[in-house]
Amino acid sequence: MDDFPVGRGSFDPAPPVAEQVWRHVIELLERERKEIAGRDVSAPVDVRRLRDAIGAYDFGRPASPGEVIDDVAELLRTTTVHTTHPRYFGLFNPAPTLMGVVGDTLAAAFNPQMAAWSHAPAAVEIEAHLLRFLGGRLGYPPGKVAGSFTSGGAEANLTGVLLALTRTWPRYGEDGLRGLPGRPVLYASAESHLAWLKIAHATGLGRDAVHLVPTGPDLRLDVQRLARRVAADRADGDLPFLVVATAGTTGAGAIDPLPELADLCADLGLRLHVDAAYGGAAALSDRLRPALSGIERADSITVDAHKWLSVPMGAGALLSTDAEGLAETFRVTTSYMPDGVPDTVDPYTSSQQWSRRFMGLKLFLSLAVAGRAGYAEQLDRDAALADDLRDRLTSTGWTIVNDTPLPVVCFADPGDGTWEHHDALAQRVVGSGRAWISPVRLDGRAALRACVISHRTAPSDIGELVQAVNDARK
Ligand SMILES: *Cc1c(COP(=O)(O)O)cnc(C)c1O
Repeated sequence: MDDFPVGRGSFDPAPPVAEQVWRHVIELLERERKEIAGRDVSAPVDVRRLRDAIGAYDFGRPASPGEVIDDVAELLRTTTVHTTHPRYFGLFNPAPTLMGVVGDTLAAAFNPQMAAWSHAPAAVEIEAHLLRFLGGRLGYPPGKVAGSFTSGGAEANLTGVLLALTRTWPRYGEDGLRGLPGRPVLYASAESHLAWLKIAHATGLGRDAVHLVPTGPDLRLDVQRLARRVAADRADGDLPFLVVATAGTTGAGAIDPLPELADLCADLGLRLHVDAAYGGAAALSDRLRPALSGIERADSITVDAHKWLSVPMGAGALLSTDAEGLAETFRVTTSYMPDGVPDTVDPYTSSQQWSRRFMGLKLFLSLAVAGRAGYAEQLDRDAALADDLRDRLTSTGWTIVNDTPLPVVCFADPGDGTWEHHDALAQRVVGSGRAWISPVRLDGRAALRACVISHRTAPSDIGELVQAVNDARK
């Protein structure tokens, strides 16, 4: 490939060079896609060699684009845990759809500034349309859906907390926490995602304000214990304001009892946020949607598109029906931002980020091409593959230790229940390169965890995984 011509007064290469670069990238990506299933899912990394290879770039002189692209691709190929592999049974990281990758590319190239509607009308309206679609599937009245795309679930959850604080205490925005008559506390299950601790740290609530409520044996939040804890905290003078239900816990895919929690919140005057970062995708399947029943009663909901909806990172979403509350939470006006356009909302005034990438496009293209029914088929297929995995594990002597309609399978060796044993088994499987799984502790009990998350996973991959764990146990 030609050298990148420097000194032309712009970063734009000559048109033939630009085309060569694109063709080179397309060939590389297609080769990766064809070869991925034949590779090891992960491989050991030599930190020193990796740093030396990267450190060789002192940026002292220009390099040829083709060489740099190949060099970086090689580093990624040889060191990355391949979440794009059909036997990556991991932490909700999907193999991205082709349309998702194309969407991210278009978003980068057009680079619409999502802060102000007037800068990016089509981009802002596409995201609003997607939020109405997702919110509608989750059971919100589509005409009332508000919210925003976020970098991921953590930002969406943060937004839910800020909205809850702002709505519970109208003076919170001006006076801050010290203007409140006591210490606000929120509740989530002991199996919830611990982004809540970072959020409590960042908001000034403090980590101790996150009260983790024990789960029952089914790994779902225990509603009776929650009710008792709220009463005790109120008696102590604390100010309970928010209950977080998790719909699809990271460890076990457990879905907290949403209708009971919605009833309790209504009774006690608490807000309800549902963290459905992973599980929310199930709303697209008519078969799986009933598992989320009650989610429509939440004040706000987190859904990640970059998990089970299979778009590239990062794309999460915060959904609510409270446009006014979001506008109050993020309100700001400046002289240097463009004037608002009638009947539109500038995203920077209703979400945490200011300058923002067009995150929704990768989901829009993926949904438009696969169709809602195509997504439903894929989600149902993953659920069926997980059922197949449960059967094969049970029939080869493993005990299934979680119960969820979602394709998260946690299993233990009845012969040796220790953490060391399960950790060693996971390491052996991962070390073999045949599959990627992880050890997990569920309510103190050690297990192995396999999540069917890749649209590329086929029944033969389930068979290979079962063989790999059985070989590891030998
Ligand atoms: C992944 C996940 C998060 C964090 O989301 P990010 O997209 O990683 O920021 C929070 N909660 C749950 C239940 C998750 O699965």
